[in-house]
Amino acid sequence: MDIKREPFIKDRLFCPGPTPVPMEARLAAMDASVYHRTKPFYDTFIRCRELLAPMFGSKNLPLILTSSGTGAMEAAVVNLTAVGDKVLSINGGKFGERWGKLAQTYQCNTTIMSIPWGTAPTPTMLAAHLDAHPDTKLVFLHANETSTGVFFPLRELVATIRQKSDCLIVVDAISALGAHHLSMDEWGIDCVVAGSQKGFGIPPGLSFICLSDRAWERISPRSRFYFDLVREEKNQATGATAWTPATTLVASLKVSLEMLHETGLERVISHHKKMTEAVRAGARTLGLELFAKENYSNSLTAITVPNQIAGKALVKRLAQKYGAVFAGGQDQLEGKIIRFSHLGFVDRFEVIAGMAALEFALLDEGYKFKPGAGLSGVMASLV
Ligand SMILES: *Cc1c(COP(=O)(O)O)cnc(C)c1O
Repeated sequence: MDIKREPFIKDRLFCPGPTPVPMEARLAAMDASVYHRTKPFYDTFIRCRELLAPMFGSKNLPLILTSSGTGAMEAAVVNLTAVGDKVLSINGGKFGERWGKLAQTYQCNTTIMSIPWGTAPTPTMLAAHLDAHPDTKLVFLHANETSTGVFFPLRELVATIRQKSDCLIVVDAISALGAHHLSMDEWGIDCVVAGSQKGFGIPPGLSFICLSDRAWERISPRSRFYFDLVREEKNQATGATAWTPATTLVASLKVSLEMLHETGLERVISHHKKMTEAVRAGARTLGLELFAKENYSNSLTAITVPNQIAGKALVKRLAQKYGAVFAGGQDQLEGKIIRFSHLGFVDRFEVIAGMAALEFALLDEGYKFKPGAGLSGVMASLV
């Protein structure tokens, strides 16, 4: 099928990473001849670490690594587990599955709690597991399962684990930071990982990892090299890095973090909530079903593609004809859902554009509704 692009169409990202990059952050990346072993770069780097910390809710400064988000996940596994350690991972989607695969790759004694995709684990489930496996040394969790648009009730889950066990709690918050409140120190989380191309609104290539004091005390005896967090911490305390950092991305990061802090974290989070409510309202007035029935993420909305429509063709048409890049479903959800992201620097007009593009593409695919039906829900939600 050859789909013609409309003239003058602009490219717009509605996928849950990479997210749109604000002009200020793009311009900051223009200076490509920065040497990283200099005082100005150290200052920028430390400033980034300091501005990241409140987003993790930790007094400890997060480390900045040169990798995609999965690199920080791997760093968590190689620095916090040893061969044979009993660990729990929860598979409620593509990213939950990733913790399990990583732990197995590094020969942890891995138990996987599978839950239906689109749902979140409950505190009761976790409590029962810990009662049955009191020797669990580490639990891998998610804040936000990006493949299904579900936000896990993280605070309650962590509190439940903490009541039962002093095991390490490691959280992938890659698609949650900036969209959801998270407080490592207060809640009792030991490690949180994040990535640059999600709520931080800069291109992919940096990941962040923050460790609690307890995690630092329990660093694994495993041998490791690129992702040796002990070596990184020693360097990064002074603004240096063990290896050459992605200097242009660090320059962008500083600008995007300053923008987020200027707005204020509370406002950034409530903005995301407003955007997600608008998309949900639009999906409903368009007559579409939401994939998750509760525990909605503030980062993205997973919408069920109507039965008579081919989801893959819809996503393809959106990108090719309308320049609107959405994500479809993965694995068991392939062709069945469309994921509408409003993570990062996305404003109400972009959400409106995304809903309009979705309407046009659905009409092209033969779905019947009154044009503007989805937009009316979005608009009503935003006024
Ligand atoms: C994006 C994402 C990742 C990381 O993926 P990379 O492609 O390695 O950056 C991991 N977990 C979640 C929940 C994500 O949304």
